[in-house]
Amino acid sequence: MSFQLLFLGTGTSAGVPMIGCDCEVCRSQDPRDKRDRPSVLISYPDHSDTPYTGQRRLLIDATAEIRPAAVRHGIDRVDGVLITHAHADHVFGLDDLRRFNLVMGGPLDLYGDEATHQTLVAMFHYIFRPQDNVNKSFVPQFVQKIVEPGKPLDLFGATWTPLLLLHGRQQILGFRVDIGGSSLAYCTDVSRFPPETYPLLEGLDVFVVDALRYRHHPTHLTVDQALGVIDQVKPGRAYLTHIAHDIKHADLEFKLPEGVYLPHDGLVVECD
Ligand SMILES: [Zn+2]
Ligand SMILES: [Zn+2]
Ligand SMILES: [Zn+2]
Repeated sequence: MSFQLLFLGTGTSAGVPMIGCDCEVCRSQDPRDKRDRPSVLISYPDHSDTPYTGQRRLLIDATAEIRPAAVRHGIDRVDGVLITHAHADHVFGLDDLRRFNLVMGGPLDLYGDEATHQTLVAMFHYIFRPQDNVNKSFVPQFVQKIVEPGKPLDLFGATWTPLLLLHGRQQILGFRVDIGGSSLAYCTDVSRFPPETYPLLEGLDVFVVDALRYRHHPTHLTVDQALGVIDQVKPGRAYLTHIAHDIKHADLEFKLPEGVYLPHDGLVVECD
């Protein structure tokens, strides 16, 4: 097995069910209609020449539900955290990552673009400027690493390429990972793929892409728009994410074209 992709959450920023909503989907008894905020864990064997030969686990985004998700899935190590952008639904679990500092005995590498890091410092002053805290207390320890779109980095023998995405007018990151001969890309919170990103989406085995709902939204792709992008990118398999309560799992899953899937929280995708 080359890599394993675990969907920790597949929901939109408010999650599904939403607070105070009694629509059919929010009241659904189908467990696949219960969606936490969007995040994935990517695991693969260390291909570098370090002595560690076990699985490396890289987390994309740290949502408010990272603690229950990590407990539920028995995630006892994280070898790095990659942040797509600093919206609350993607980063409000950063504090809970301090457990991995203790369990693994060291700081965690935190990857994001410059704007993301600047926003995180403002949002989490107590984490990134702990010297200003009144009491000395245990806050998460991160090593902030700035990445740029189109400039690949090597993480444990896999090539990670940050991808420029447009989230409305905001520039954010997706990530492509190449491991051995396999590849995947994770592109959440995107309303448009700039032309320079398309060549970086060639030859994908697995493509995860934002598909918020059926109706237009200024900062997310609709289901039809996502299918249009998938048609251009032609991955081996595609998965939709950042799903709002407008979409009932059982309604959409059979309407999708061959090779396109609607994941649910906890789904594991493997690629050889
Ligand atoms: Zn989001
Ligand atoms: Zn609802
Ligand atoms: Zn966002």
